[in-house]
Amino acid sequence: MDPSLAREARRIAASARALLEELAEEGLESVPHVAPEPLAAQAPEPASTVGSSDAAPIVEAGDEPASETTSPAAQIDLVGFEPPWGDRPTLEAVREALGDCRRCGLCEGRTTIVFGNGNPDADLMFVGEGPGADEDRQGIPFVGRAGQLLTAMIEKGLEIPRSDVYICNIVKCRPPGNRTPLADEVASCRPFLDGQIQAVRPRVIVALGRPAASLLLGRDVSITRIRGTWQAYCGIPLMPTLHPAFVLRQYTAENRRHVWEDLKAALERARE
Ligand code: URA
Repeated sequence: MDPSLAREARRIAASARALLEELAEEGLESVPHVAPEPLAAQAPEPASTVGSSDAAPIVEAGDEPASETTSPAAQIDLVGFEPPWGDRPTLEAVREALGDCRRCGLCEGRTTIVFGNGNPDADLMFVGEGPGADEDRQGIPFVGRAGQLLTAMIEKGLEIPRSDVYICNIVKCRPPGNRTPLADEVASCRPFLDGQIQAVRPRVIVALGRPAASLLLGRDVSITRIRGTWQAYCGIPLMPTLHPAFVLRQYTAENRRHVWEDLKAALERARE
């Protein structure tokens, strides 16, 4: 083979490997094989597929902000919702405004709305992605396997009771099959997350995983690149870290050490 072609093939293979590693980090467990249709049979691309298909998160998991497909969190559009609370809401006011929410399709499959739980005056607030099956049944965030790991990291690692921190998610209803929430779902729920942050006024926010970090930072981020670095959400220091579900899937000493370092830094800053 021509050496320049071989170099190009190696470069493409290396980029594909890096992309697959990033997708695996975000929860992609397999890449479906889709046989290409003959060109003539292909329908024209819709302007945006976000919000129209369960498969969207896989397409959107690309990492480059400049790419045409960005994560749902980075595509949110402000919905026509005027929060009925002022600058300093209470969690009760935000919960009451959420009501028996039917603002997006996630309401169809949910058992319970998982609003959030913990200390309403917490110094440390954790924001995850969305409830899983256990959370949907119990109405409490982070109680399944990933939640147990998060709880252990808080209680055994940081040595503070879980009830001292506040924990919630970017969407309050379980996405079917635990898929990444779609742009319209994130947009519908966003005012309530903002309201929760305004109510708790934590000293530090920990964003668990890419969707939470991307949403709160207002741009598509790579969690492996950004984790462990201080960011800010509306002036509140924000520490992005790996989602505990990812750490469970890739239970390496390195991933555990990364999360541990990030959480320690977050607690230290919250105590300053
Ligand atoms: N994963 C999340 O992001 N949130 C939960 O509540 C549980 C698992």
